[in-house]
Amino acid sequence: MNRKNALLFVAILLIGGLATLQYLRRSYEYKSNQFLMDTLVTITVHGKDETQLKQAVTEAYTEMHRIADLADGFPQPGTAAYNSSDVCRINQQAGKQPVRVDRDTIEMLLLAKKYNRLSDGAFDVTIGPVMELWGFGGKNPHVPPADKLREALKLVDSGNLEVNETEQTAFLRKTGMKLDLGAMAKGYATEKALQVIKKHGIQKAMIDAGGNIRVLGSNLQGKPWRIGIKDPRKSDGIVAVLPLENSSAVTSGDYYRYFEAGGKRYHHILDPRTGYPATNSMSVTAVTRDAGLADILSTVFFVLSPGNALDLARTMAGVELFLVSADGHIRHTPPLLSRLEVKPGESYRYDQGR
Ligand code: ADP
Ligand code: MG
Repeated sequence: MNRKNALLFVAILLIGGLATLQYLRRSYEYKSNQFLMDTLVTITVHGKDETQLKQAVTEAYTEMHRIADLADGFPQPGTAAYNSSDVCRINQQAGKQPVRVDRDTIEMLLLAKKYNRLSDGAFDVTIGPVMELWGFGGKNPHVPPADKLREALKLVDSGNLEVNETEQTAFLRKTGMKLDLGAMAKGYATEKALQVIKKHGIQKAMIDAGGNIRVLGSNLQGKPWRIGIKDPRKSDGIVAVLPLENSSAVTSGDYYRYFEAGGKRYHHILDPRTGYPATNSMSVTAVTRDAGLADILSTVFFVLSPGNALDLARTMAGVELFLVSADGHIRHTPPLLSRLEVKPGESYRYDQGR
């Protein structure tokens, strides 16, 4: 070996050693919680650079807050929060004039209109006036008088929500109409936050926004993340375990937000055809890559009958559905059969899906 080759040999050894050290440096898990959009949001990220992980999570939360502020329907008029909410500004100008809004608001509203059509009206973000009558947003929810419900229902129609992409404006045609993005904003914000994390070069992450789950890559052990689907009647139980990789699972249930009156349970997901809570299912989980779409679909499938929901899910590429129907049957789309671990216990019936 001449001198030049010997030097080269040492250099290669050194570089190889450094690369191995770098490889062996341990992976960190960084986890952080924030109360956001009326729920506890937990972000977990894995990677080797702790500073980068923290920075990514901070930016992800900032992005979630931004979407939350645009979609917030509750601030009082005159406040800064009211003026920075596109939903409030659109509602205020209902029947008057179009309002210029953020690009993300346009995107959410276009999605809302699309899935309103696809679900034959089961999903409708103009449900605002009816939601308000039930008072689910406030401290004192109650069953509204039937005549008032009928009146409010006349205002519910996504066909009267105009979205102008080129002007970047939105307009509710009738006075009294009100947007409510409660069924989709959390999922949309979750997806945007995940994209922020991804841009930082992070390959393993999970966002849990109160049952809206989005995962990036696999877990620290290189296996799919394992998601428990809650038992809709036992708060500490689960009915299934779903392995999830690069995808999202969003559950809509009748047990998240409800009150009881006259021995009946009234919850916050309404059937826009009746104005009353949808009664077909106790719990519905939509599984698809995009958390925004999964959130929309969880509500769509919750309002539809289980049969119609399963039929619709089957026509959608990359979409799976798991549900517990009102009569206690566990059903799901066929491809989930090989992935799911179903635990029906004594409370539910499971005949391998159908
Ligand atoms: P969660 O809020 O528990 O995540 P969902 O995603 O199903 O559950 O959203 C429920 C919210 O969606 C309600 O609080 C209300 O704001 C709104 N909403 C209720 N019924 C409908 C409907 N049929 N279509 C669209 N939005 C709805
Ligand atoms: Mg939803």
